[in-house]
Amino acid sequence: MPSFEPVLLARIAKPNSAKLETYRADGGYKALEKALGMPPADVTNMVKDSVLRGRGGAGFPAGLKWTFLPKDHPGPIYLCVNADESEPGTFNNRILMELDPHQLIEGIAIACHAIKSEKAFLYLRYEYGRSYRVLDAAIKECYAAGLLGKNILGKEFNLDIVLHRGAAAYICGEETGLIESLEGKRAWPRIKPPFPAIEGLFRKPTIVNNVETLCCVTHILNRGSEWFKSIGVPPDPNNPRDMGSYGPKLYCISGHVNKPGCVELPLGVTARELIDEHAGGVWKGRKAKAVVPGGISMGFLSADELDTPLDFNGPGKAGCLGLGTAAVVVVDDQTSMVDVLYNCCRFMSHESCGQCTPCREGTAWMTKILERIRAGHGKMEDLDTLTEVAGSMGIIPGTTICGLSDGAAWPVKNAIKKFRGDFEEYIASGRRSVTSAQELMAG
Ligand code: NAD
Ligand code: SF4
Repeated sequence: MPSFEPVLLARIAKPNSAKLETYRADGGYKALEKALGMPPADVTNMVKDSVLRGRGGAGFPAGLKWTFLPKDHPGPIYLCVNADESEPGTFNNRILMELDPHQLIEGIAIACHAIKSEKAFLYLRYEYGRSYRVLDAAIKECYAAGLLGKNILGKEFNLDIVLHRGAAAYICGEETGLIESLEGKRAWPRIKPPFPAIEGLFRKPTIVNNVETLCCVTHILNRGSEWFKSIGVPPDPNNPRDMGSYGPKLYCISGHVNKPGCVELPLGVTARELIDEHAGGVWKGRKAKAVVPGGISMGFLSADELDTPLDFNGPGKAGCLGLGTAAVVVVDDQTSMVDVLYNCCRFMSHESCGQCTPCREGTAWMTKILERIRAGHGKMEDLDTLTEVAGSMGIIPGTTICGLSDGAAWPVKNAIKKFRGDFEEYIASGRRSVTSAQELMAG
């Protein structure tokens, strides 16, 4: 892939990159000035024309989502910034918030102008203490400089940003769980519809956007929607429903690689390029056995699927749930998929909110079956049982409220389908893994 000039990460290596003074010296808040000179509908249209797809995991077009708000609503209308970044392996938002918070605040202000909102809630993952301190300082700088509060930049535009620390649970990142949590309740996802755009925070129309999505908005206003569409992958001409995968994307690379980290590249880079050219290759001279394309809920690419483009379509064509958060986790060829899948299931079982029986019970039973296999007591029938349990969970069969259940079931179906040999070998050998702290202590 030809060299690419970073957009979202362009400023992060500069000294004092988080300070308002340096942000403004780099042309910061010019995009907001431009947006405030435009009618809100024109700003929405510009973002819609760019086909900016949500970076939080679902890839829903951001501008289109804004148009779902009721027309001529008397208000209030809210923006919730989803910074509850909890998908394993995902840390792109943390980098943006800690190293260039004003890029995000500018995107929030532009979005609020577009959707006619005067109040944004930034819901921040509890564990991100440093992000909290940096954002808190940046928001205070903005109030002092007249970039937040009343009559921003001398225009008839008012905006307050409330920085809210999350409740340290994965489900708080599900948009309606996030809304419930903001309202002071347990983060139990709501049944949709109504979608938050119609009835969200405090039962008012609410837009929920991810941090990286809003950072992209800043650059779309600065450089235009055509510029944004000059990056990434155009729609597949053979698929009339494809809207393309435009713009830059932050890919997080972790697991068994020599150089884990976060890189910004045009959407569409392949898993192989990411591993070999940007992460220093698989560690210890080994080969990749499996690659998670975008958070564990998306499933796995096998070693012969590494040329899959990591755009909004590629992982789906390779049997994964989607691109998700573009958090790429590499598993080397010395690792058993039994152990990998056990970790995924244990996480999802712990994080299930428990409202829906198929999710609560399914995640727990899948974990228990894998625990038994890892304890050396597995049976070949367990593999069909696992697939059957996974097949009964999820929004797609219509048995659960939110997507966590699909995200828990997909890696199970995917791993057993693509790596069945690993599971069969593990069971047949009667192998036993250390599974608990007590066992570790016992040696
Ligand atoms: P979704 O497809 O249900 O919704 C996407 C967005 O579009 C939502 O904001 C929703 O309100 C809106 N939307 C969809 N249809 C609509 C309609 N008809 N009218 C109005 N609005 C509509 O997906 P989701 O459950 O919000 O997100 C799932 C994704 O979240 C997963 O794919 C996963 O990758 C990702 N995820 C990310 C993290 C993270 O840390 N970033 C953590 C967990 C999960
Ligand atoms: Fe809770 Fe799971 Fe139901 Fe989502 S699918 S609401 S996490 S029980």
